[in-house]
Amino acid sequence: MRTTTRGKVDDDLYLLGSSQVPIYLFPINVDYWALVEGGISMYAADVLQDITNIVGDLGRISHWFITHKHYDHCGILPYLMPKFPNARVYASEATVSAWRTAKTREVIRSLNDQVGQANDSLIDRIDWADLPVVPIKPGDNLCLGSKYSFHVVATPGHANDQIAYYDPGRERLFVSDALGEFDETDGVWRPLVFEDYASYLGTLHNLEFLGVRQLIPGHGGLFSGELAKNAAANAYSECRRLEQRLQWRMRNGFDVEGFASDLHREWRRQSADFVPETLHLASMRRMLCLMAHRR
Ligand SMILES: [Zn+2]
Repeated sequence: MRTTTRGKVDDDLYLLGSSQVPIYLFPINVDYWALVEGGISMYAADVLQDITNIVGDLGRISHWFITHKHYDHCGILPYLMPKFPNARVYASEATVSAWRTAKTREVIRSLNDQVGQANDSLIDRIDWADLPVVPIKPGDNLCLGSKYSFHVVATPGHANDQIAYYDPGRERLFVSDALGEFDETDGVWRPLVFEDYASYLGTLHNLEFLGVRQLIPGHGGLFSGELAKNAAANAYSECRRLEQRLQWRMRNGFDVEGFASDLHREWRRQSADFVPETLHLASMRRMLCLMAHRR
């Protein structure tokens, strides 16, 4: 089953903003709340409204867990962090060092601006250098009060700084983009390999061994039941299927460029609200090049 409603999606879990690029909120104890994922700046006002309605006092937000450096997974941070006086941002050491480079910050800013500006009431944004960050690493166990703990899981391939957060008590996995993008028409996982193909496959293989009752990717809502259980295996086989299609075409004289255009046409619509056209096409090209040059 798949849940895409804005608001309560489980007894202790809320989906904020939009299921296309959601942020998740849950209480870690009677006083404090945590956020997972960092969205796009266009939704900053909607997300702030949702948080205010649920939590009341914004001083009760204590943790904000980020999965990777991509613009659609941290774009809201600079706008909303100034509203949360007691919050700290948790991200992998690799994500934190990416944020330290001017180039990464500029890519995040310009892509967010292309997709849609944050509301005027939120122009008071914090500089990346002033974000209160806590660098974490794969293998860490984060204890959040007495009821929650997160195991930090390495999930490189889509992005090499990417981590997932696994809550063993609830068998709940915040997997971000490690599985790719869920195809809403066909019900399978489309690969999104943007940094390292071998790592991408290795990540999917490792994720198959986790018991997952609730799967929460970076886009598309909350998955449960068989959809959650079989997701990593499906993502792996879909990835290999795309690689086979590519190899077949190349053996028959077609090039990466033509296949990238076909995939772009086939897949762009689902993410058109938050992925600029040119970026989508370039991303398809990048993925196919990584697959074509696999050793
Ligand atoms: Zn991503």
